[in-house]
Amino acid sequence: LIVLEGVNKWFGSLHVLRDVDLSISRGEVIVVIGPSGSGKSTLCRAINRLETIDKGRIVFDGQPLPAEGRALARLRSDVGMVFQSFNLFAHKTIVQNVSLGPVKVRGESPAAAREHAMALLDRVGIADQAAKYPAQLSGGQQQRAAIARALAMRPKAMLFDEPTSALDPEMVGEVLEVMTSLAGEGMTMVVVTHEMGFARHAAHRVVFMADGQLVEQAPPTEFFANPRSDRAKDFLSKIL
Ligand code: ATP
Ligand code: MG
Repeated sequence: LIVLEGVNKWFGSLHVLRDVDLSISRGEVIVVIGPSGSGKSTLCRAINRLETIDKGRIVFDGQPLPAEGRALARLRSDVGMVFQSFNLFAHKTIVQNVSLGPVKVRGESPAAAREHAMALLDRVGIADQAAKYPAQLSGGQQQRAAIARALAMRPKAMLFDEPTSALDPEMVGEVLEVMTSLAGEGMTMVVVTHEMGFARHAAHRVVFMADGQLVEQAPPTEFFANPRSDRAKDFLSKIL
């Protein structure tokens, strides 16, 4: 579904993605880990073209990433993204946050979009919060609302960039639970996270990045039991 070939990206003289090759199948769940500054966020952002790349190619669903216009808007709805900060519209209610995109971008009727939004809020366990404003919700509830908002666009893939890093510890579980169930339903997912429990249980493949390079990738059992590179061994010894 997503193919990166020889992807390179520079920020000025800083080479942040180096010859990244990565192929993600439909229904696959990839967890990306690596030290701070290794390029994990840049990789995610490149996949839905929040960042441009300088060299190489990214293909989504058989098409090179579009540069602009309606095709780019379609890409952004096909590839949902959830960030560390929840990025909800502060002056819209939760159900408005979830139904706005489908009405504006997908041309759904307000009634249909609202009905779908309520079903999604129910699915992430916060249907009872629908009429509230983001600031009235806990961090975990806001992040679940952000996930529902991305799902409302009926994406073919979801990118998560440290979705639980800004949460109080007691709220991490409820967000991971939603993500785990999404993975179980066959959603294609790229997840940057430090939650190694999620990586072990939900990932099909762990990708380890360092200095902009994809250093190694393996199924979680293999990766955690037997990391091959010194960089990965060193990283795991610090976080596990
Ligand atoms: P973290 O774990 O801290 O989130 P990361 O692996 O997500 O790190 P990136 O955010 O992708 O790393 O950043 C990779 C490198 O690119 C870092 O050195 C960062 O400082 C740099 N960088 C990121 N965004 C920009 C930008 N807009 N302009 C200049 N440099 C940037
Ligand atoms: Mg990051």
